Amino acid sequence: MTIAIYPGSFDPITKGHLDVLMTGAQIFDKVIIAVSHNLEKHCFFSIEERVMLIKASVKGISNVEVDSFEGLTVEYAKKKGSKILLRGLRAVSDFEYEMQLSQTNSALSEEIKTVFLITKPEYNFISSGTVKDVAMLGGDISEFVPKAVEKYLKKRR
Ligand code: ADP
Repeated sequence: MTIAIYPGSFDPITKGHLDVLMTGAQIFDKVIIAVSHNLEKHCFFSIEERVMLIKASVKGISNVEVDSFEGLTVEYAKKKGSKILLRGLRAVSDFEYEMQLSQTNSALSEEIKTVFLITKPEYNFISSGTVKDVAMLGGDISEFVPKAVEKYLKKRR
């Protein structure tokens, strides 16, 4: 059984993330989407909120599991019996960071490989950051995020 880990901040999950996840779920036997405690980013939503919003957005995808973790992604992957990290690529601007991250993870643990997926063009420009900004300014984010996230952001506003 091939298990892939899709790690990220997901602050909050967007349709871009979801598209990468669903394609991953078609390729791998199981995908674990795992919210990481990111040391660099100051997140708007708590880990619990982010996990809750992901769970509400992936209902019905049978081979997707939702989780969170602290510490090194490679250690988490090992614990889950996975050698594959799934990441999404948007514009060229993502590439340098993602390449560095992927090579760091491989240097930490040689057997861990990162698989990159590209979203549908209509989701390519979406980022959690802009979604939050638009929502906080009262804009319509229904095209960018799953329904559960849209509702929750409205409530938070
Ligand atoms: P991180 O803080 O680890 O970068 P993010 O939640 O920002 O976590 O993103 C997780 C992964 O999803 C990253 O690989 C990122 O490039 C990818 N991603 C984010 N938004 C999109 C999108 N709209 N289309 C494709 N991939 C995306």
